[in-house]
Amino acid sequence: MVRLGGFSRVFPSLLGLVLLSGCATGKKYWIPRNQPPEVVNMETTGYCKCGKCCGWKRNWKFKPVVAYGPTKGQPKAVGITATGTLADWGTIAADTRYYPFGTIMHIPGYGWGRVEDIGGGIKGMHIDLYFPSHRKALEWGREWKKVKVWKPQ
Ligand SMILES: [Zn+2]
Repeated sequence: MVRLGGFSRVFPSLLGLVLLSGCATGKKYWIPRNQPPEVVNMETTGYCKCGKCCGWKRNWKFKPVVAYGPTKGQPKAVGITATGTLADWGTIAADTRYYPFGTIMHIPGYGWGRVEDIGGGIKGMHIDLYFPSHRKALEWGREWKKVKVWKPQ
C-alpha cells in the first residue's frame, strides 16, 4: 500500500513531462521544428472504410474483394491504408505526386492528419479525410479549406 501511494504521487508529474516534451500536434504527429507550413486551398471530401468509399464488395463467399480496376476480384483488406496502417481519424488520402506519404496536414474543422492512403478520384489539390462511419463521412460532404501542410523533408 505504501509503495502504491508513492507511485501515484510520482506518476502524474512523469505524465506531465511526457506531454510537454511532445511537439505541437499533441497526438501522434511530429512536425520538424523550424519548418513553417505551406498553406494550400484544398478541396476536401470524407471517406470511410466501407465498400462504397473504398471500392470493394463481397464475393459469393461473403469475403471482401476489390470491386473494379486492374485488381478486381482480389482480396481486399478492409480498413487498411495503402501504406499498411490501420485507417483511423487523421488518415488522409492524397495525390502522392504532390503530397507524399508522411505529409502532415492540419485541416480546419477536422484537425491533424497524415497522408497514409491514396484514392482513385484523389488528384491534385483534392484530399480525402477518413471518418469512422459512412454517415460522418457524408456529413463532412465536400468543402474547400485552407489546409496547413508539412511535407516530409
Ligand atoms: Zn463509406
